[in-house]
Amino acid sequence: MSRFSRRDFVKFMGAGGALSAFGLTGCETTPKSATASAKAGPRVVIVGGGFGGATCAKYLRLYDAGLNVTLVEQNARYVTCPGSNWVLGGMRKVEDITQSYDALRSKHGVNVIHDTVVAVDATAKQVRLESGQTLSYDRLVMSPGIDFRWGGIEGYDEKASLVMPHAWKAGPQTVLLYRQLQAMPDGGTFIMAPPTMPFRCPPGPPERASMVAHYFKTHKPKSKILILDAKDNFSKQALFTQGWDRLYPGMIEWVPATSGGKIVRVDTAAGTVHTDNGDTHKGSVTNIIPAQLAPRIASASGLTNAAGWCPVNQTTFESTLVPGIHVIGDASVAGALPKSGHSANNIAKMTAAAIVSLFRGVPVPQPSHVNTCYSLVGPDYGISIAAVYRLGEDGQLQGIKGSGGLSPADGTDQQRSREAGYAQGWYKSIVADSFG
Ligand SMILES: Cc1cc2nc3c(=O)[nH]c(=O)nc-3n(C[C@H](O)[C@H](O)[C@H](O)COP(=O)(O)OP(=O)(O)OC[C@H]3O[C@@H](n4cnc5c(N)ncnc54)[C@H](O)[C@@H]3O)c2cc1C
Repeated sequence: MSRFSRRDFVKFMGAGGALSAFGLTGCETTPKSATASAKAGPRVVIVGGGFGGATCAKYLRLYDAGLNVTLVEQNARYVTCPGSNWVLGGMRKVEDITQSYDALRSKHGVNVIHDTVVAVDATAKQVRLESGQTLSYDRLVMSPGIDFRWGGIEGYDEKASLVMPHAWKAGPQTVLLYRQLQAMPDGGTFIMAPPTMPFRCPPGPPERASMVAHYFKTHKPKSKILILDAKDNFSKQALFTQGWDRLYPGMIEWVPATSGGKIVRVDTAAGTVHTDNGDTHKGSVTNIIPAQLAPRIASASGLTNAAGWCPVNQTTFESTLVPGIHVIGDASVAGALPKSGHSANNIAKMTAAAIVSLFRGVPVPQPSHVNTCYSLVGPDYGISIAAVYRLGEDGQLQGIKGSGGLSPADGTDQQRSREAGYAQGWYKSIVADSFG
């Protein structure tokens, strides 16, 4: 008798299990080959091949191999933000966190085009690409990630980010910041400036501080980290602070907004940052993470609200502003769900199920969502936060009371070590689920 292993179970829940849960088992679930796209089937075009877009493309084809799915992504390869802080800690190389689109093409029959979407015509149901090509769709999915609110900090624009990197989109910016850390003298100061909410990956800044601290402890032990925060608290704060005291005593100073943490101006030539209480700080390396909003392609398509994000029906993720267009991932307003790769992956699967249901004229599933964010405080010291979310009566996704939770405050070294292992396991699984 063949054994149904844990790995089989995970695979089952990822694809077929989810299908039956949504009542979508009647469809053909396995693409016959890379060329099996049914040319006559309904057409879905997806903008952006990150965690949201790639997962949605794959799962649309898994849920219904008769769909004609085209993914438009501007880059030939995708560097994941998850794991990019580990690169700064010297624990990974950028190649280790770089994903290809080969499996989407060859295993799942997704038509992947590397180009930039420059315009959407929601009336004609067409998108225009930078190359001049036009694609027609029956449903459009937008998962373009985030952009930055340049100008929120005086002197900080795209050009300034080549001197004081943000590294909040992984890739060349990650490499630049890592090179700066390698080049700085022992005894120097690393300044990091996290933005106000909402922004992608709330635990990302303190994880970055932790990973840079690990790098310093290993290579430049006299160096310091100064976090000038535009907020007065941060994600998993007590757990991070405890980890910093244990692993990097005296190395990291965090300044909240109300005590002079809010940066209002930078001077890249002088290498200084200036806070709203009149203080000036000079770093050897400065990492500014600007406030964020949905990218221009979303606003130019009429998908954004006054706050700069895309409101959606939080069951189907169809835009409440432009019918026929679904917005998923960081660009969307998803109630209490944080902007994370885990959420984007989760939302993408639910949106794929909703789109298949809409094409078939059957009821759209009412799923719960889940998010888990692991952070490494050190290579062998992990912490996490997790929750399950369901649609509330107000149409907003809300955390279910009592679901999920935080790592224990009094966790032992063994527990922290196990969670560090889970963090790395999580990375492998989410990447395999989204791109494999
Ligand atoms: C330092 C850091 C660490 C993180 N760590 C974690 C973590 O541990 N766990 C976690 O769950 N999340 C983590 N995140 C958050 C996670 O990276 C994002 O939430 C996730 O990438 C969102 O997916 P997305 O599909 O919305 O956007 P993205 O992943 O940004 O993908 C958007 C894609 O769209 C493409 N695109 C944009 N515009 C166009 C266009 N006009 N035409 C064609 N293509 C276009 C872009 O090139 C990009 O590939 C981290 C983020 C950062 C910055």
